[in-house]
Amino acid sequence: MDTGEIEEKVEWLIKARFYVICILTILGIVQTLILTPEKYHELLKPVSFLVLIILSCNFLYSVILEKQKWSIKGLTIFIYIQLAFDIAITTALIHFSGGIESSYFVIYLFLIFAAGMLLYPVSTYIIATLSTTSYGLLLLSEHYGIISTIIIFDYQPVIWKPGVILSTFVFRVGSFYIVAFFSDYISRVLEKKTQELEKSNQLKELFISILSHDLKNMLQLILAHAQISKETKESIHLGKIVETVKKMNHLLDNVRLYSKIREKAYKEKFETRNLYDIIKKSVEVFGEGERIKIYAQDENCFVNASPHLENVFYNLIDNAIKYSKKKIEIYIEDDLENWKICVKDYGKGIPDELKEIIFEKFERGEDRIKGTGLGLAIAKQIVILHKGKIWVEDNPEGGSIFCVSLPKT
Ligand code: ADP
Repeated sequence: MDTGEIEEKVEWLIKARFYVICILTILGIVQTLILTPEKYHELLKPVSFLVLIILSCNFLYSVILEKQKWSIKGLTIFIYIQLAFDIAITTALIHFSGGIESSYFVIYLFLIFAAGMLLYPVSTYIIATLSTTSYGLLLLSEHYGIISTIIIFDYQPVIWKPGVILSTFVFRVGSFYIVAFFSDYISRVLEKKTQELEKSNQLKELFISILSHDLKNMLQLILAHAQISKETKESIHLGKIVETVKKMNHLLDNVRLYSKIREKAYKEKFETRNLYDIIKKSVEVFGEGERIKIYAQDENCFVNASPHLENVFYNLIDNAIKYSKKKIEIYIEDDLENWKICVKDYGKGIPDELKEIIFEKFERGEDRIKGTGLGLAIAKQIVILHKGKIWVEDNPEGGSIFCVSLPKT
């Protein structure tokens, strides 16, 4: 969730609070006029005073929301403060409108539901517990005469014996936790659906940009070479066509892998595997002989690995070969709770301003022609899947060092 989304939710809370309070106040007035008109004036003053406080605070919240520049943490605290204050005012409203008699306890239900929609799912239980405590303390204080009970109906002292108060309290508190449970459930389902939607939107964007960006360029290149080859009959252009078709194939393979990892991020099968073996196999694929050397502190370095982990090293070695003509060294080091793997090359290195963005999809450095800009994005996704980190440093002797840190099993 970003700040914009949470800001929208706070706006929703402010609006919803306004409507809920207005509707309940009108219902309260009607109920009093019909059932206990003689209490109307006695009730009017404190209740309208509290309603005014809620509405003024509500207005204040919207002003603060507009004026202030918020962080996610700040907004979350802001929502908690609002809900806690709402609970306090609701408890006061309940007290002035008859304590256990009052039907204003339904506002607690609204607050618990709102917490589930606005904050993290578990917050519904926090707000339900705060409401229970506050409601319970009020009823206890009234019962033991710490604060006076406001009697609305004449039969009130006869009906509201301790046992009845307790069972009513338990019943109502039960409803708080039922609402908390459902609100928690709904917000979890919504969160999951939103994540799925975001992921599928990102993938759609990815495919569209590939179609409009890379494949179109490559097709134009093929067309140009085909035309020249037709006119000049030079075979060199056929070679270029084959090369470009291979690149298109490689790009599509990478896209498929990227979308597979993004889609199945949470369903991958992990098993304990030796990093040394995985890296050795990835090196062997390239058949570069002595050019690539592995230096391992320990040849038994186990990690919890998905079947995609070799792709990380495959991509890093592939880049080192592509962007440097000299030797390549791979170090496997014991780094307390992690294994640190560094792929060191002696090429021209990566400028500081590109060190982070090359890990985003389609971001390429100066050597644009050589790649597709997806290799490091794929590597980053896979490393995240393994709860690890990936970054690039300068090789002090010239070139770059790509480092991956993976938790030990
Ligand atoms: P590509 O398919 O373009 O290589 P990558 O995502 O693998 O896509 O890499 C992104 C960019 O990072 C490359 O275009 C290149 O500019 C830069 N890069 C990656 N590895 C190296 C390296 N070992 N040395 C220099 N530049 C590199």
